[in-house]
Amino acid sequence: MAEFAAHLNQGTLNAQPTIFEIIAQESMASVLRPAVTYALKVLASSNPDKWGWIWRFGDELHLFFDYVVQNHYLKIYRGSISEHFYGLKRVSRTPNHDGDDKLSSVQRYLSLVMLVVLPYAKLKLDQLFERLREERVTGSLSSLPVRKRLYFLQLKRIFIYLYPYLHCTWELMCLCYYLLYIFKISGVHSPVLHIVGISLKRFTKRDIVTHNLQRNLPTVPNQQTLGKQILAIPSSALKLLSSVLANGLPVVVFSLKFLEWWYSSDNRSAVHSVMQLPVPPPPARPKPAQYGVQLPPHPAQCPLCNKVRTNPTALSSSGYVFCYPCIHKYLNQHGCCPVTHLPSATKQLVRLYVDDVN
Ligand SMILES: [Zn+2]
Repeated sequence: MAEFAAHLNQGTLNAQPTIFEIIAQESMASVLRPAVTYALKVLASSNPDKWGWIWRFGDELHLFFDYVVQNHYLKIYRGSISEHFYGLKRVSRTPNHDGDDKLSSVQRYLSLVMLVVLPYAKLKLDQLFERLREERVTGSLSSLPVRKRLYFLQLKRIFIYLYPYLHCTWELMCLCYYLLYIFKISGVHSPVLHIVGISLKRFTKRDIVTHNLQRNLPTVPNQQTLGKQILAIPSSALKLLSSVLANGLPVVVFSLKFLEWWYSSDNRSAVHSVMQLPVPPPPARPKPAQYGVQLPPHPAQCPLCNKVRTNPTALSSSGYVFCYPCIHKYLNQHGCCPVTHLPSATKQLVRLYVDDVN
């Protein structure tokens, strides 16, 4: 409960958090997804044949874990994991007759949608936008019949044209809300929170006392029948999972982010320049996956089309070289190296100008 300590002396003075606390909790929330993605990537890379599916369904797995954790925090602490970390809670802007500002069940459900479903939908729309933009460049719709192709092209054009404007409008709206909050014109810092009638407040001493009392309540002796006890097993297991995830996930996530920073190329080059170590040997050749694409007999052939490579392009995750159109199409469809099944993306493609020696 160390996170409460910073706010104890000011909680009674001003319950409304400052914009810095809000931005800090939002940046912490934005760090969680890349950290989980990184953890899944490490796991998938360790054994692509066994864990490759984890990388393919990484967004959906994150959605599930996010749902379990955020649901737990909303139920117990009345806020998201990052809001709780900064000693904040969600309150209803329209308290009931007793002056109680607890969230209604509808508001809690909408909070969950806002915290879990909306970021997932936004991520999928961003990915779709990037994919369609790349498709427009590579013209990969050319395999479809002419009428269907024209229809899709039209839809694609509209989406590619409108999406940046919608994104920009949304960001401007968020900025306006921030400014209104900073100048104390509005008590809400986000348009979504405004729509569902929720605002953020600091945890008070009373909240902490109430929470500690609830945690220390003596457990009622269990006099349920065996049938009821068996039926309660799934809900108990889910509660245990959410408790483990809620308490262990922040530690795991921050450890992984630290390791990512420690092994990042920027940090490593700084350490290297200080220690002046000898040049390490080249990394070992990655092992082809059991069900991966077979390597062609001649090194000048592309493993995907088995023809002599055109526009040779290396995939930095595995080091294998393909034709640019072959590997680009394959990565868009499968998201992994065809030979090793290591998780990969199109940004890891490196064009090789081996024929352009002057
Ligand atoms: Zn090829």
